[in-house]
Amino acid sequence: MSAQQDLVTARRSMYCGQVRPEHIGQTILLKGWVRHRRDHGGLIFIDLIDREGHCQVVLNPQEMDPEHFEQAHDLRDEFVLAVEGEVRRRPEGTANPNYATGEVELKVTRWEVLNKSEVTPFKLDEFYNISEEIRLRYRYLDLRRPEMQRAMRMRSGLYRVIRDYMHGRGFIETETPFLTRSTPEGARDFLTPSRIQKGCFYALPQSPQLFKQLLMVAGHDKYFQIVKCFRDEDLRANRQPEFTQLDLEMSFITPEDIYELIEGLLVRAYKELKGIDIPAPFPRMKYDDAMLKYGSDAPDLRYGMEISELSEAVRASDFKVFKSILEGGGVVRGFAVPGGGAKYSNTQLKPDGDLFVAAQKFGAKGLAWFRAVGPADADNAGLESSIVKFFTKETLAALRAQTGAQQGDLILIVADAEGVAADVLGRLRAKLAADLGLIDKEKLAFTWIVDFPLVEWNPKEKRWEPKHHPFTAPRYEDLDKLESDIGKVYAQAYDVVLNGQEIGGGSIRIHRRDIQERVFHAIGISQEEAERKFRFLLEGLSFGAPPHGGLAMGIDRMMMLLLGFDSIRDVIAFPKTQTGACLLTDSPAPVDPAQLEELGIQVVAEDEEKV
Ligand code: ASP
Repeated sequence: MSAQQDLVTARRSMYCGQVRPEHIGQTILLKGWVRHRRDHGGLIFIDLIDREGHCQVVLNPQEMDPEHFEQAHDLRDEFVLAVEGEVRRRPEGTANPNYATGEVELKVTRWEVLNKSEVTPFKLDEFYNISEEIRLRYRYLDLRRPEMQRAMRMRSGLYRVIRDYMHGRGFIETETPFLTRSTPEGARDFLTPSRIQKGCFYALPQSPQLFKQLLMVAGHDKYFQIVKCFRDEDLRANRQPEFTQLDLEMSFITPEDIYELIEGLLVRAYKELKGIDIPAPFPRMKYDDAMLKYGSDAPDLRYGMEISELSEAVRASDFKVFKSILEGGGVVRGFAVPGGGAKYSNTQLKPDGDLFVAAQKFGAKGLAWFRAVGPADADNAGLESSIVKFFTKETLAALRAQTGAQQGDLILIVADAEGVAADVLGRLRAKLAADLGLIDKEKLAFTWIVDFPLVEWNPKEKRWEPKHHPFTAPRYEDLDKLESDIGKVYAQAYDVVLNGQEIGGGSIRIHRRDIQERVFHAIGISQEEAERKFRFLLEGLSFGAPPHGGLAMGIDRMMMLLLGFDSIRDVIAFPKTQTGACLLTDSPAPVDPAQLEELGIQVVAEDEEKV
């Protein structure tokens, strides 16, 4: 047993990052990790680091047992140390004003290694170009980096703000089960087999939707939960198979109550966590307007380039492509790119040019363009293009006026089915804003999107699908169209959007059994299927369910935006890759045959299936 063994069991005096000039002269004990060791032979400097920061510790053979000093040459980065010594002011001229501990250092008299470390796969203080694969495999090291520590603590801070705020507003925090029945939110379920009832499965909840509605039937009036949700979907960037939501529900409310609640929460979160005052109330935009003007139901309002409906303006033109699209019920829409005239060459706009190809990748068949080379009152309204000859002066003047193109701008136009045109233009708008540096990164553009349609057409499966989920209430005035013209029914649904990303969404719910049954029927869920899957909900609605509504906010996405990170994985302690794998634990993984047998499950190998 070494002479310093008592350091192992003794309690530390404070965090390394908490040592201040007021401690000068005191003998203290610190515990932390070695980072950035400078061994000058006769003198060893170490930054001893913990979650609160680092303290410079100095080992000097003159100030401790020289034999013990010699052993310190073997110390390496990420060793865990206990060091005891006196806090002193750093020598003249060596203070570092960038750190809270920059004026002081610890003159070590005794130290002990609490644990050694292998050489880490990446240096924790020089974090450049480390592949995400390595970061995720050694996530505990990645999380030890100060940047990730800050992210995780900010996340914990958000939880604190949410809980404080929600409890303060009279919400009851209630947990709902993970082993349950499918709650449809438009994704596939993750299933968990039951051992006791072989052949039966639980579904992990895609959201606690039906439980929170039943809590309203139970008279809770205001419920919230910070909860994991599970959705088995093809993972796009910034999606995770399990993710965290702030889930909430209230009784006897209108959408205004939700807007006010969420705005208050976001104002408080930004103030407390970032010191930023965000203006509320947030603007509101109808879904139809968002789709027309921005080609997206989560528009980024940090920049302009609004899309214009040009169908009427070009209806009389001789340009065949536009003509046939319009005759087929499609639309012609476009927008002006500020300064785009000089920025983009004809080569980029030709069928194999990069801008044209980008539009095609987004789903367009073609991309028409006009360059505003002169003033609006010049010949051809100052417009130039390879297709200018197909348009009359009046049409060109209308194109110029309706897109609001200034001299030097480029007008981009897409003609297609309405949904395709909106989507392509929306994506082009976002791409060009990024390419041209039009996005003010400091800006926070919140907006509510309201008046969603109740359903949308799924062309592949040839059926109407809920736009939100099947429990969303139709607008009362549209109820009589449920059976006759469901495509025209609007929902009492709303999303909250920040900088082009949906951060939350919800709705007023159907609280009457008869209306819920009509909606199920209208979206093709038979009475038998409704009874089988949703008996508990339908029964619940028939026992005095109050009118109610709610919302869920994506905590991961909100954290990402709060921290200004690009990846959702950077705000989740142990995230999965794009293919749903956890590289740390190597999951998903095969299981013991005995476990499968117990569950009554046989796995069909992929190649066997193909035979
Ligand atoms: N359950 C919905 C979701 O997870 C949110 C809600 O309608 O409250 O998206």
